[in-house]
Amino acid sequence: MCSHPLFKMDKEDFKTSDGGAECFTDLRIGVYKEIVPMGVDPDVISYQLAGVHLEPEEFHKEVEALLAEGDSCSDTILLDCRNFYESKIGQFTRCLAPDIRKFSYFPDYVDQNLELFKDKKVLMYCTGGIRCERGSAYLRSKDVCKEVYQLKGGIHKYLEQYPEGFYRGKLFVFDERYAISSNSDVISDCRYCSCPWDKYELCSTQFCCQLVLSCPSCRQNGHTACCPTCQTKGQAKSEASPAVLHHKEECECTCGRPRIPQDPQHICVPYLE
Ligand SMILES: [Zn+2]
Ligand SMILES: [Zn+2]
Ligand SMILES: [Zn+2]
Repeated sequence: MCSHPLFKMDKEDFKTSDGGAECFTDLRIGVYKEIVPMGVDPDVISYQLAGVHLEPEEFHKEVEALLAEGDSCSDTILLDCRNFYESKIGQFTRCLAPDIRKFSYFPDYVDQNLELFKDKKVLMYCTGGIRCERGSAYLRSKDVCKEVYQLKGGIHKYLEQYPEGFYRGKLFVFDERYAISSNSDVISDCRYCSCPWDKYELCSTQFCCQLVLSCPSCRQNGHTACCPTCQTKGQAKSEASPAVLHHKEECECTCGRPRIPQDPQHICVPYLE
């Protein structure tokens, strides 16, 4: 038995939601150094460094206080440490959601945005609290923030208590369901016609692994790829040779996004309602 304090799991550490075996077609059980790889060895950045855990009620109060400040620049950053496509369809009101594609880019994102975090109180959150354990430890290792807090049990546990709280939209999950919802807000738009839409599907172009938000009527009009470039490629594909098909796909979506985004140093996120 492992004696590490983090291996002691309580009943409340388990998260339940609707869905059966059909949602987990790729379920594997194993022992990993990092459940969601941040790419930094836990022996280098220890779990012990992680930010202070806030229970959903405490986190809720913190966000409430942040929102009460209105439009003024705040000392507090509400940081979504998930990937851009996750925060796009659901997020906490007034959060900072980095435009990163993988959690392994998070350390570089922090490194390149250190000024942003200087002397700030950071309230970090992710899906189930797993990434925050590593992400908050990394952020704290930089020694620039005033304080770093993390939402215990993540959005998942928060939504159980506050389905109509400050988290709006869907919660992206990494199984066949793609997302689970607790409130009916749709915070994202169709890629093509900009109508409210938050149901992801995989780009129809083979080997492109981008998720696309294309509403039913746009799909009917043939917009099934992540972007026009990909759509064109998809059509050319049937005539292409198998060798060409295995090339790594690049499209507007992958080319247009810097690997590590630089956020403005003084963020004043307007409070939209
Ligand atoms: Zn549309
Ligand atoms: Zn695509
Ligand atoms: Zn694309």
